[in-house]
Amino acid sequence: MEIKNKKISIIGAVRSGTAAAKLAKNLGALPFVSDAGSEEKLRLSIEYLKSEKIDFEIGVHSNKVFDCDLMVVSPGVPSDAEVIKTAKSKSIKIISEIEFASLFCKANVIAITGTNGKTTTTALCGYLFNECGVKTYTAGNIGLAFSEIALAAKTNDFISLEVSSFQLDFIDKFKPKVAMILNITPDHLNRYENSIDKYAESKLRIFENQDDNDYLILNNDSELLMHYYKNAKSTVLLFSTSKKVSNGCYLENSTIKYVRNDNLEFTCSVSDIFIQGEHNIQNAMAVIIAAKIFNLDDRKILEALKSFKGVEHRLELVREIEGIRFINDSKATNIDSVIVALKSFNNPILLILGGQDKGNDYSMIENLVTDKVKKIYAIGSSSDKIFNFFHQKVKTEIKKDLEEVINAALSEARSGDVVLLSPACASFDMFDNYQHRGKVFKEIVNSK
Ligand code: ADP
Repeated sequence: MEIKNKKISIIGAVRSGTAAAKLAKNLGALPFVSDAGSEEKLRLSIEYLKSEKIDFEIGVHSNKVFDCDLMVVSPGVPSDAEVIKTAKSKSIKIISEIEFASLFCKANVIAITGTNGKTTTTALCGYLFNECGVKTYTAGNIGLAFSEIALAAKTNDFISLEVSSFQLDFIDKFKPKVAMILNITPDHLNRYENSIDKYAESKLRIFENQDDNDYLILNNDSELLMHYYKNAKSTVLLFSTSKKVSNGCYLENSTIKYVRNDNLEFTCSVSDIFIQGEHNIQNAMAVIIAAKIFNLDDRKILEALKSFKGVEHRLELVREIEGIRFINDSKATNIDSVIVALKSFNNPILLILGGQDKGNDYSMIENLVTDKVKKIYAIGSSSDKIFNFFHQKVKTEIKKDLEEVINAALSEARSGDVVLLSPACASFDMFDNYQHRGKVFKEIVNSK
């Protein structure tokens, strides 16, 4: 696409917005960045845009944003935002930041989407490909913005790209060499008129431009995904932890098998994978398939699966103190994530729940909790709700903060137990964000 001297309005001035602006500038276009957020929050972006001499406005979307040849929207901007509606009514071409970056990128893109597991799988894929000697950038929601590396990545390089459905809402020609859909469960439905159909359609767009030289990796165990998935032009490979597949990965007696036309080409044991839990077996399977598509070295694949330690704040082992493992799963801000966390351990669990409630229905984890949890520590603004729901089923105590929780856990847990921060809630009542909550948890555990 030729964009020299073209006026490009970029909505959103955080990471991907500023990166898209820089990319546009490097290509000789005339970017204009607009963000309705406050100057205080966008201080760093403002400094950057000034230093790069990129035109911008903060605190408002003025009419100037509509005076453009193309509009690029950052992932944080909802598709029903007023500025987008107006741009649509003026027939302005609107694309997402990943679409924009992909137009100028020659590298092989492995695009990874799904309701859960995107970050972990994108990180594992980037790590494993690099460990196998293939130059791979990790980008998207994690690592660098796609626009930051679009020009630097060469034809034979790879990009492991985390893609949210919001970014897929505004693609046009986006055509990854490999697309992965890890799962589809109801989440973020408020952005899709509360319709799972619309949400699923958005995720399925990841392969709409693929052709028979491309690959599509899908979770065969996801009923919703198999229900919504329609014929793709690309080669489809499946992964499953519950049934055999002919092309892709499946699990048999704790062994992961990769088959091509029913021929066994790679195996490894579940215990070879450092990251815990069935959900992580699925994430690993998706990555193994991608690695096998490009015939990466089996021994190196195995080494990488053994040495990948996971992503911070997702079932992260912080420390073991006298046989008690402390696990930071601060990213678990919904019930679904707590379910996979609880299923990941066979030892007794002391579970830290609570924070800002998002309308949680705790009956969804009642059986799992009574089965696996020997004590609940409830914190934050939802602690009363948690206490009221659980205290007659499992020992439950309300604690003032994480310091109190960890002190109590240290005296109450036994060797072999797991102390798990998997709060099922947002963090904003007590912390800046889930990263801050996880960091505080780790600091206290490490200070003991
Ligand atoms: P995302 O980027 O899609 O939010 P993350 O890798 O950050 O995914 O994980 C978010 C939460 O989802 C974590 O609590 C993690 O334990 C859980 N999770 C990770 N992978 C999966 C999966 N394949 N299926 C279900 N849940 C998962």
